[in-house]
Amino acid sequence: MIANILIVVASIVGMEVFALYFHKYFMHGRGWNWHESHHIHTKGYFEKNDLYAVCFSIIAAALFISGSLWWEPLWYVALGFTLYGILYAFVHDGLVHQRWPFNYTPKKGYLFRLVLAHRLHHHTTERDGAVSFGFLYAEPPERLKAELKSK
Ligand SMILES: [Zn+2]
Ligand SMILES: [Zn+2]
Repeated sequence: MIANILIVVASIVGMEVFALYFHKYFMHGRGWNWHESHHIHTKGYFEKNDLYAVCFSIIAAALFISGSLWWEPLWYVALGFTLYGILYAFVHDGLVHQRWPFNYTPKKGYLFRLVLAHRLHHHTTERDGAVSFGFLYAEPPERLKAELKSK
């Protein structure tokens, strides 16, 4: 039981680290073709960038299936992976980009810091020169602003 909880927690933390590097070096690199839609204003509800979420959902489903068929710990990795996706969607698509049917933006505390940090990430519509690539962890906004200025 405890081992399984540890796997779930480690998967969530691992996914944040992975997401940071994936966003920084792939989405703002070779994968910019899909991610660009998220950095420029687009009409309509869906963006080409949402294809990343589709890909990750397929990977999560494959992990769940592999976990049930062959090796149980993988099922818990899949659970952590999915919980990360839910947390990511809540913070990124909900709190920051307000892609939900109501209007709620945190005004203080850590969630506010996350929103500010990601808004600073959207300061640029270009592939290069962006700051703050994480989603559930962000550096203090002052540091990010200073970093943005020095670019
Ligand atoms: Zn980006
Ligand atoms: Zn965003």
